[in-house]
Amino acid sequence: MKKLIYLDYAAATPLNPTVLAAMKPYFSKSFHNPSAIYLTAKNVKNDLEVARAKIAGSLGSRPGEVIFTAGATEANNLAIQGVMNKFPKAELLVSAVEHESVLAPASLFKHHKIPVDRGGIIELKALEGLIKANTVLISIMAVNNEVGSLQPLGEVGSLIKKIRVERAKVNNSLPLYLHSDAAAAGNFLDLKVNRLRVDLMTINGSKLYGPKQSGALFVKAGTVLQPLILGGGQEFGIRSGTENVAGCIGLATAFEMAQNRHVKEAKRLLEIKHFFATKLQKTLPSSVINGSLKHSAPHILSIVFPGVDNEILMMQLDEAGVQVATGSACSANSNQPSHVLSAMGLSDQEAQNSLRFSLGRQTSRRDIKRTIKLLTDFINSKK
Ligand code: PMP
Repeated sequence: MKKLIYLDYAAATPLNPTVLAAMKPYFSKSFHNPSAIYLTAKNVKNDLEVARAKIAGSLGSRPGEVIFTAGATEANNLAIQGVMNKFPKAELLVSAVEHESVLAPASLFKHHKIPVDRGGIIELKALEGLIKANTVLISIMAVNNEVGSLQPLGEVGSLIKKIRVERAKVNNSLPLYLHSDAAAAGNFLDLKVNRLRVDLMTINGSKLYGPKQSGALFVKAGTVLQPLILGGGQEFGIRSGTENVAGCIGLATAFEMAQNRHVKEAKRLLEIKHFFATKLQKTLPSSVINGSLKHSAPHILSIVFPGVDNEILMMQLDEAGVQVATGSACSANSNQPSHVLSAMGLSDQEAQNSLRFSLGRQTSRRDIKRTIKLLTDFINSKK
């Protein structure tokens, strides 16, 4: 039997063995509740704080600005609902290509969507026009998980700075925060919070070769946020519940590894992605790449195969041992065309002809060659 080729790293990454080894003690001998006061529990608490400091080190933040959550969905909900519940009369802006875990909480409040261009990149001019005197939060993901588009967070940060100055002049004391869902970005981008100019940022262990349901929200000191989960007051009172110590240690180890190797990994995958795109255009010239190759992350390639049903093609590839996605795994069962592709101006038909290939640490050029051969055989056999 041929080796399986996994090209769905944007949906899940395998747990790295070093990460697993770091987590293991907290399932057995170091099982204690970090809030207990005997020595072994204090040691666990200390390890938890070391993990927090490690994440803060990679983010360039203070440890007290890192709140552990159960994954990115919770972190996004905490950012959106946490801010908006504090300012119930205010409005928020979200990009039209956000993940459902941003769009769904945003829909609970008065909000507007920031349009994107054909490349899946937000329209900065439109964003500027949408910011009103009562806008309190702007949420724009760092990297889109369906097409890989890279959003210009630095430029958004400059715009926000300008608006803050204007607000100060007219005594408008409402804050204007920038949140970024960086769930899909940690393997390829430097996530230093000052560079990205964010006030809130989501990270996700399950996309970083860490455990699922591990994540964190960076909350810049001074940001006004209402907790979502009330109880024993853990995580500085912002996220109660006995800490998932193994998950937090796993996230910290995985995040540090990912950030340490992001430049090298981005370079390696970018070469493979360009090889994929160039070779495919030669062998299947009717195929069209969604989004901009220039302004996109190195691991995602979304492609339209005109006239080809994406579900059938995905199943044919699966039978041949190649695992890909028709879109985001989270909405794969909704039967709706992808809201991301629609926002980029693709027709429903084009969206239904699209497949997402996402590359990762184990992906080689050989895997891509075999995938292209299969794609070409399947599609040409229909003609
Ligand atoms: N944001 C983005 C950009 C994602 O890709 C995902 C996972 N597909 C999430 C948020 C949600 O992550 P989780 O399901 O691990 O909470």
